[in-house]
Amino acid sequence: MTRFIVVGAGIIGVSIAYRLAAAGNAVTILERDHIGAGTSGTSFAWTNSNEKTPHNYQQLNVFGLRAHRALENEFGARPWYHGGGAVEWRTDAKEAAELSERVERLVGWDYPAEWISTAELHRLEPALAADATGDARIAYFPEEGWVDPLVYAEYFVEKARALGAKVRRAEVTGVVLEGTTVKGVTTAAGETIEADFVVNCTGRWASDLSSDKRLQIPLAPTIGLLVVTKPAAAGVKRVIRTSGVNFRPDGAGRLMLQSEHDEPKFTLDSRPDETYPVAVEMIERAAKLYPDLAGVKPEAMRLALRAIPADQVSAVGPVPEISGYYAAVTHSGVTLAPWLGQVVAEELTGGKKTAILEHFRPARFF
Ligand SMILES: Cc1cc2nc3c(=O)[nH]c(=O)nc-3n(C[C@H](O)[C@H](O)[C@H](O)COP(=O)(O)OP(=O)(O)OC[C@H]3O[C@@H](n4cnc5c(N)ncnc54)[C@H](O)[C@@H]3O)c2cc1C
Repeated sequence: MTRFIVVGAGIIGVSIAYRLAAAGNAVTILERDHIGAGTSGTSFAWTNSNEKTPHNYQQLNVFGLRAHRALENEFGARPWYHGGGAVEWRTDAKEAAELSERVERLVGWDYPAEWISTAELHRLEPALAADATGDARIAYFPEEGWVDPLVYAEYFVEKARALGAKVRRAEVTGVVLEGTTVKGVTTAAGETIEADFVVNCTGRWASDLSSDKRLQIPLAPTIGLLVVTKPAAAGVKRVIRTSGVNFRPDGAGRLMLQSEHDEPKFTLDSRPDETYPVAVEMIERAAKLYPDLAGVKPEAMRLALRAIPADQVSAVGPVPEISGYYAAVTHSGVTLAPWLGQVVAEELTGGKKTAILEHFRPARFF
């Protein structure tokens, strides 16, 4: 029985660990914090293949969307998933032109994307103000949705445990190598845990796992700010993307908001008194569209770094010359997780290599 250590219990680690356990392997997940404590707990979690280029990266995310859908057939239900598609309109002229180009490109790639009328939009979103879109064109992406990553992670961890996988709180401080072969990991508690394979699923911390440069994937993280409102019945039904702010429901009446224009002002050290006024402004922008949001206060502001490999696309696979080591580091991880879980477990257990992943191997950095 092959012994796998999966480092990191984010959405990607738990997906891979479950599939490895389901294939009959001995799996240990090592997580230094709680399950979902990393970026997966601080994600807009929109499942999409929308603003992705080049085409092979867009396809990867389409596989992610399909894998999310397939989970319903496999498990009978997927309580973490919220469909309904995404709608987008842009009142800024430059952004509107980009949206038109994007819809055309996506249709050309056979991705479900269409223009809908304002009447259709109001049927989808009855609480939207009558004049919310002005004369902007409205794009609809019916296959998109959003996920509660922690509900997903808990489910996958439970399934993995039921198959014998172990989940341990441990901070990995190094990868043990004998020559060019990985033998296990060391932990902050001074322990050495042996394994035949170490799978690095630590996201934005992926290059901190080992001081050995041969195991480090260069990252170019960007800062994200997510705002969560207090519970409010504002009538938002799905992912809404506009020039001023993006938002979606976040459970129990709360909304989650995000705005790429505001994010670069902040660092991970920004204080709540710095992010709060921006959070209030973001809610005000959304309230111009959904009047029932007026006066609703922020409940939380969350800062996080996106786990983005230096050339912006996924890094999934072994690293050159080292055996027993595999990394799965990517942005869009919420979209990609169920697909990565399957194909990475297949590759790791000697099954077929996934052709499209050849474009995304970490080897390109070495
Ligand atoms: C603001 C923002 C918005 C986003 N929006 C979207 C979106 O709309 N759609 C989408 O698909 N994706 C989105 N993403 C990206 C997505 O959230 C991530 O790609 C995904 O969560 C990464 O999951 P992961 O499992 O790789 O990493 P993580 O969830 O970060 O998990 C890594 C885990 O490793 C653990 N760890 C780290 N180092 C060690 C160590 N040495 N020892 C033990 N454990 C360790 C951490 O504690 C953590 O739990 C967004 C990200 C951000 C920040």
